[in-house]
Amino acid sequence: MSPLPQKAVCVARNYRAHAQELGNPIPDEPVFFLKPPSAICPLEEPLVLPSWSNSVHHEIELAVLVKNRLSNASLEEVRAGLGPVAVALDLTARDIQQKLKEKGLPWEKAKAFDRALPLGPWIEGLDLDQPITLELKINGQTRQKGNTSQMIHSIFALAQEASRYFTLEPGDLLLTGTPEGVGPLAPGDQLELILADRWRYLTQVAHGR
Ligand code: ZN
Repeated sequence: MSPLPQKAVCVARNYRAHAQELGNPIPDEPVFFLKPPSAICPLEEPLVLPSWSNSVHHEIELAVLVKNRLSNASLEEVRAGLGPVAVALDLTARDIQQKLKEKGLPWEKAKAFDRALPLGPWIEGLDLDQPITLELKINGQTRQKGNTSQMIHSIFALAQEASRYFTLEPGDLLLTGTPEGVGPLAPGDQLELILADRWRYLTQVAHGR
């Protein structure tokens, strides 16, 4: 068992086509934000959409578990310090985020709410230097598909850069951005998340809010 996470460090706009679909410029350095432990929940439990948003978007992402403490880490320390991976959803209240962005305000309400980070089980042994495919199907249709070679900043580069600002503690998570195709979820939607063409997870959106 790994220690409980203290935080998830997430990155916005790490896939070019996703930045473009939301009309955002390609950032030249990673745009980080955090999710608290209260956002993390098991992927297989029904997804709960908050009542105060009319547009909660799915963002399928690769999550990486931090094994060793990383603070201002070298590339070697980062390579030794990251552990298994999992598939995750970075649920985003897009309508709320849009209002906050327009005012130049922080995104926490839109990104860090309760159960905003459904997380699948950890998978050992995947090579982080090789492209890892992520695919999200909703009601049987592929909505998002991409792989980690399409990232603007690599997994190791993200962890190294993040560790300059936030100490990554064992048990913490790094979320690495979403490929294009994000969109709103509706009550009753059936989701299938596929990691590396091999691990498949089913979940659904709850009917109540
Ligand atoms: Zn995201």
